[in-house]
Amino acid sequence: MGTILSATGQILTRAVTFQFTLDPTLDQTALFLKCAGARRFTFNHHLGLMKDNLDVRALEREATLEAADMTPSLSWSAFSFINEFNAWKSGRLSTSPENGDGSRGLAWRHEIPESVFECASRDAAQALKNWSDARAGIRAGNGVGFPRFSSKVRCTPSFRLRNRAKMTATQSIRFSDASHVRLPKIGDVRVHGPTRQIRRMLSLGRFHIYSATLTLRGEKWTASLTGVAAQFHPARRSTKHRHQAPVGIDRGITSLAVGADADGQLVARFEGVRELRNAEQRLIMAQKALARTTPGSKGRMKAKARLNKQHRKVALTRKHLVHQASSHLVAHCAALVLEDLNVAGMARNRRLAKSVHDAAMGELRCQVEYKAAWYGTEVVIADRFFASSKTCSGCGALKSDLPLSTRTYACEYCCLEIDRDVNAAINLARWAPVATTGT
Ligand SMILES: [Zn+2]
Repeated sequence: MGTILSATGQILTRAVTFQFTLDPTLDQTALFLKCAGARRFTFNHHLGLMKDNLDVRALEREATLEAADMTPSLSWSAFSFINEFNAWKSGRLSTSPENGDGSRGLAWRHEIPESVFECASRDAAQALKNWSDARAGIRAGNGVGFPRFSSKVRCTPSFRLRNRAKMTATQSIRFSDASHVRLPKIGDVRVHGPTRQIRRMLSLGRFHIYSATLTLRGEKWTASLTGVAAQFHPARRSTKHRHQAPVGIDRGITSLAVGADADGQLVARFEGVRELRNAEQRLIMAQKALARTTPGSKGRMKAKARLNKQHRKVALTRKHLVHQASSHLVAHCAALVLEDLNVAGMARNRRLAKSVHDAAMGELRCQVEYKAAWYGTEVVIADRFFASSKTCSGCGALKSDLPLSTRTYACEYCCLEIDRDVNAAINLARWAPVATTGT
């Protein structure tokens, strides 16, 4: 992201998302569902065209056609997708739909904000890019299959609107008062919860909204307002009053995270795994209750709603806990050392999967990394093969094996007995200076 100047001359660098629960009217709810349908429709339109094109070309290749005789391949840039869909929906293409009254084009296109179609085209282009990058080996992680068609049953209703206004002009996405957000073509939608912070940032030119994503979570519509914000005041970025020595963070199995410095001082410990376990227990109960109901019955609908609510609770609990931990760490330490865990690989190990997801490890690292930039905190990622848990923080001896069930590290050389996670955190903290001197 380059340098972005707001209308008041603020330099906007922080990617920030504000999330609100909405309280739409019945008409608005109906419109939201239509928009989510339009998003799905547009996304699938592009995937369908692309899939047909790829299939035809694959057949032609099998028939050993000359490259010049083959059907030309379609471009999947966001630009060409947006243009194609625009022409298609307004009846300018030979493939455009024909309506009963003799008109051409997508009959319901005027009911939907233009931006919904445009963002859906962008999403489809991005999904195809991810897939092709994965095939070309540009993208890390597991193989990405051809994007899945968006299904009405399987997919959460959601759509995105772009704030198309220039920074200096009146914004198309804005707060019309303390409890209403104004969305293009949709109008004022009631917002739950306090909006003072975001409105203040907007009025000072310290935040600019890029887009709003509306999603139906459980029974509630939420809006995520994504944009760029100004940097924190220098006083908040100062590391003077923080823990100076690098703090190693072990993303524990029984605790969410443990922080300790090279001298062995415990700096922070975040519990919260039990809270998640309890939430998950209730989730399992809701699942069982659902299984006992008769398909199609009223009881099943109720049980399903209760299950969705629990799902959302677990996700929110996790998010909240990880945000608390990451904010505290970056605001109270001058430098952090994190382990480079192969979270994708660990989650595949079925026995470990639950704990790994409990600890929300990947999420913690991701949050620490972006928040560190806000607070001017230094983050060092230790090598994946650094044996932080198996090394003794007292004498440096290395255990060949340390099962996960062993909660205490007991060294057979120097007789040190120490909490397993604290031991690992101390080792990580010591990794930092080694890394910076380049040995
Ligand atoms: Zn030892």
